Amino acid sequence: MQADLVLSNVGQLVGVTASGLPSEGSGLANRFQVIPGGSIAALDGRITWVGPASELPEISRNCARHDCGGHVVIPGLVDSHTHLIYAGDRVEEFEWRLAGASYQEIAERGGGINTTVRALRKATNADLASQTRQRLRRCLAGGVTTVEVKTGYGLNSADELRCLDVIAQLDREGPWELVPTFLGAHVVPPEFAGDRQGYVRLLCEEMLPHVATSGLARFCDVFCDRGAFDLRETRSILETARQLGMKLKLHADELTCLGGAQLAAELDAISADHLLCIDQAGIEALARSRTIATLLPGTALFLGLSFAPARQILERGIPVALATDSNPGTCPSENLLLMGSLACTQMHMSPLEALVGMTLHGAAALGLSDRLGSFEPGKQADFVICDVRRFEQLFYEFGANHVRQVFKRGKLVFDANAAAAS
Ligand SMILES: [Zn+2]
Repeated sequence: MQADLVLSNVGQLVGVTASGLPSEGSGLANRFQVIPGGSIAALDGRITWVGPASELPEISRNCARHDCGGHVVIPGLVDSHTHLIYAGDRVEEFEWRLAGASYQEIAERGGGINTTVRALRKATNADLASQTRQRLRRCLAGGVTTVEVKTGYGLNSADELRCLDVIAQLDREGPWELVPTFLGAHVVPPEFAGDRQGYVRLLCEEMLPHVATSGLARFCDVFCDRGAFDLRETRSILETARQLGMKLKLHADELTCLGGAQLAAELDAISADHLLCIDQAGIEALARSRTIATLLPGTALFLGLSFAPARQILERGIPVALATDSNPGTCPSENLLLMGSLACTQMHMSPLEALVGMTLHGAAALGLSDRLGSFEPGKQADFVICDVRRFEQLFYEFGANHVRQVFKRGKLVFDANAAAAS
């Protein structure tokens, strides 16, 4: 067998899937195997063999052996919902909120998303890239090798396209892999405050066609909620995007239950995200669809809201992805493993379901599960070596960072020891 990289001395290899993505959602966690003393062989950044180290076939040429120190090895984490490209922060509003103002009251005072819109429009591309790069470095240090990044703080053609350009530039830089999403329908920008329909028209007639032609966004997303876009507006924006050949995502049923989950299912969106307020009808609609439920427990924690009903969703066989929602207002954190701790303790997910949520199901929520999210021959050799005895510790010792080394496409791209020394 040919390989240029083989892992040795692995304590636990977690995240082995047999072949292909099983179609039954709830069964996925059961098929995510844990192999004590497992090993992986890779060639040119792709996995060629997975199994117990004792069964490793003979390697036919010189090959690097990487000693994993007896630690746990998991697939590179996939953060499938972030708003990482922004300028500045919103720490003042954090203080308002602690003094009692609600998210919606802050928005009504001219704060919230519009504060970040003003900051982003003033920032240069170099500023935006440099601030976003810092956040991506924190993602990588936390074991995240693939990150979805949404626009949504430009809210006009020029600034939204500028953000997509910066995302493309940062993706080329690597070593992370970025998946761009157009979220021009985040909120109605202040200059359209008296003319919501005018902004929806701008989105459908100008912004979306430009974005689709640019080829710079893989998905179109809409924030469907009170204070953002109603169900009718959301439908018209998503249907336009779909006609332009874009795939769909949806911020659904976060602050109020508007029926976003049903709309996501009806339009065959790849994911319906948040779902804090999803009702039974929404759950049934998702269960009948191929749409993945992406849960973002960091936002519920930070806003002091009730967590999404993960168990009810999982029990209907709906695949659940976990992501950070990293953004300056409602979840200023890039710590995806911490979201796993919240998923376990607050949403009663098992550690294995949480890990599947931030690997295989995260990849599926980006349409990338054919090459990311688990250990299987043919998939990318993206993996994380964690200084724990068994993987459950990643969520048990919450808030800690156990990540020692991160590999992307078979290359070492982060080493905690080197980072500590520099
Ligand atoms: Zn979001």
